[in-house]
Amino acid sequence: RIIMGIESSCDETGVGLVRLHDDGTVELLADEVASSVEQHARFGGVVPEVASRAHLEAMVPTTQRAFATAGLSMSDVDAIAVTAGPGLAGALLVGVSAAKAYATALDVPLYGVNHLAGHIAVDTLQHGPLPTPCLALLVSGGHTQLLRVDDIASSIVELGSTVDDAAGEAYDKVARVLGLPYPGGPPIDKAAQNGDSAAIAFPRGMTGPRDAAFDFSFSGLKTAVARWVEGAARRGEGIPVDDVAASFQEAVVDVLTAKAIRAAKEQGITTMVISGGVAANSRLKELAGERCAAAGIELRVPKPRLCTDNGAMIAALGAHVVAAKRPTAPLDFSANPALPVNVVSL
Ligand code: ATP
Ligand code: MG
Ligand code: FE
Repeated sequence: RIIMGIESSCDETGVGLVRLHDDGTVELLADEVASSVEQHARFGGVVPEVASRAHLEAMVPTTQRAFATAGLSMSDVDAIAVTAGPGLAGALLVGVSAAKAYATALDVPLYGVNHLAGHIAVDTLQHGPLPTPCLALLVSGGHTQLLRVDDIASSIVELGSTVDDAAGEAYDKVARVLGLPYPGGPPIDKAAQNGDSAAIAFPRGMTGPRDAAFDFSFSGLKTAVARWVEGAARRGEGIPVDDVAASFQEAVVDVLTAKAIRAAKEQGITTMVISGGVAANSRLKELAGERCAAAGIELRVPKPRLCTDNGAMIAALGAHVVAAKRPTAPLDFSANPALPVNVVSL
């Protein structure tokens, strides 16, 4: 069966096509993404109205490209999955409206699915069926969560999340302080490779004995970096951008991996998936790899292209939802900007 996935929760318009095989494996056929990130760069963050308009313009051409890449026609589609939330209301609405129109025109079932679950499900396109339970560390521009996945099609439990900034948000804000471009993840990752991660001792948030074991906080770290940079500037010193980037990055990935390993151990889980845009980070993958190996945990990290927002992740989740014979969404369903992670599909 062919499943089409539509993603429009933030600033990427994504259309993916996958084939669900009878044995439950899911094969990637097309993954087309149009991003409006450059239109937001000068604002240092996504402008919702600009994103919605860009989705509207990109939706049809991106869909056409996906079918051309896969060598399929729209009549080959057996089901459609669309991101129902969480995300920007106006942006989600464009994808949901398109999905309803396509589903009606093609007379195929429609599924409204969870964007965050999609970030995890995408891993099955690269590494095959997900052993369950597994632990998911979801690190993106808007979310930082530790999740226990009992069934990717129906059962995800939140163990912890950030109490303030998301990890990706911290990267974006620190990049701005350092004069690096938006989005900040890639340039900080790159600068850090030439820096000394032990140069500056930045704080590890939420690691005190009285802090919730699996929650995160990155706002204090962001402020600490800003203070440090201001201090150096006041003293007329040059800013060692590479060292600051490396030291900041080490603080982020140290806390992320330490808490993820602790959660896996506590839950008796032996498979970890790290996904979301920040999972593209080279140091996060490296440190998680070392710590998982030491703890006897199998680590799965999708390739960077699959970690950032795309339609294939929604198609992949849709395929798992179809395979599990979950109910379809009513045609009058609305997008939910605050859809909780435990609601995998509507
Ligand atoms: P959400 O999924 O929570 O709705 P989002 O979709 O905006 O948020 P993603 O597209 O998954 O988030 O990820 C974007 C984030 O990933 C940005 O904050 C970006 O800086 C960060 N990022 C991308 N590449 C890297 C990298 N190499 N290192 C660290 N962070 C990165
Ligand atoms: Mg994005
Ligand atoms: Fe995302």
